[in-house]
Amino acid sequence: MELWYTEKQTESYGITAKIKETYVSEQTDFQKLDMIETEEFGTMLVLDGMVMTTDKDEFVYHEMVAHPVLNTHPNPRHVLVVGGGDGGVIREIMKHPKVEKAVLVDIDGKVIEYSKKYLPNIAGELDNPRVEVIVNDGFMHIHDHKNTYDVIMVDSTEPVGPAANLFTRGFYQGIYEALKEDGIFVAQTDNPWFKADLIESVNRDVKEVFPIVRVYWANVPTYPSGLWTFTLGSKKYDPLAVDESSIPEMDTKYYSPRLHKAAFVLPKFVEDLIK
Ligand code: SAM
Repeated sequence: MELWYTEKQTESYGITAKIKETYVSEQTDFQKLDMIETEEFGTMLVLDGMVMTTDKDEFVYHEMVAHPVLNTHPNPRHVLVVGGGDGGVIREIMKHPKVEKAVLVDIDGKVIEYSKKYLPNIAGELDNPRVEVIVNDGFMHIHDHKNTYDVIMVDSTEPVGPAANLFTRGFYQGIYEALKEDGIFVAQTDNPWFKADLIESVNRDVKEVFPIVRVYWANVPTYPSGLWTFTLGSKKYDPLAVDESSIPEMDTKYYSPRLHKAAFVLPKFVEDLIK
């Protein structure tokens, strides 16, 4: 009998992938966690019925969370990741020798535990001595750490369940205060096909808090619509002012010095959303 995983991305549309094996299907203290082996995308982490990452396309999202901000800040020594328990963003951060310490705060220890077991290529750097892993609510961590970080990356689930308060103006204000005086942050902000309202409202809120706000995008096949956006807020440095020739070539598969500014060129209907 064939088994298929289907994610209902709207009430009338979804994606589906053929399952080879189910490793984990568990209700944690915070969310439903599934770890499945698919034919097309390899191992897939699913939280509350939404694809979080897969072996095949994870590099796009993880590179595009980490490198645009780290190549904009001239001296990113102290970095925070909120969420990101699969470790993919941390793996990319570790490619930057200027980073002395990266702190990962995920609310759900089970995501970290199962990612280490079933997604070793993604989670492999979580034990790096430059990394500190904390199981806690990112909102609380931000609140308790003022003027601490050069860069903050929000690699959260969608704005339902434990991540609901990570998409609020109050959270962006907290991030502003947790950053040093020249800090930068970036958050994944979903897709413009089905979540246009979210992109609009996040943009409006971040603009009320940060003087420099930019939106960029990447193609992630297993995320709804494939067109994924990221919103960046900065106190001082503008990613569009970076001299591309100063960006080092890195061991990446999606991000490159050529792509750094190109990713900020938005399709016109997305531009219109954030005017
Ligand atoms: N890349 C994915 C996406 O865009 O679909 C998200 C990656 S997944 C690893 C996101 C993580 O955020 C989950 O491990 C979840 O436990 C964590 N998370 C959700 N709410 C959180 C909160 N309030 N504080 C810290 N981590 C949170």
